[in-house]
Amino acid sequence: MMDIETFVTVLLSCGVFGIFLLWLYCDWQDTLRMRLRWKRSAFLCRKCDHVYEAQLPQKKKSEATCPHCGTENIPLHF
Ligand SMILES: [Zn+2]
Repeated sequence: MMDIETFVTVLLSCGVFGIFLLWLYCDWQDTLRMRLRWKRSAFLCRKCDHVYEAQLPQKKKSEATCPHCGTENIPLHF
């Protein structure tokens, strides 16, 4: 039989551990979201002035096709 002090200690420890696991999960989700965002770049079409966002398919290829007119454009640099 467990006394009340031990029970409360175990209960609080489980709560703190659960909050820690939740924090780890949220941090992991944020890291995944940021990595996906970093792989995407903004482009300005030099033909139709359409601003769009695209993911660069490879590191060597630094152009993306405009979804409006099909022109290959280089990413914007800020
Ligand atoms: Zn365009």
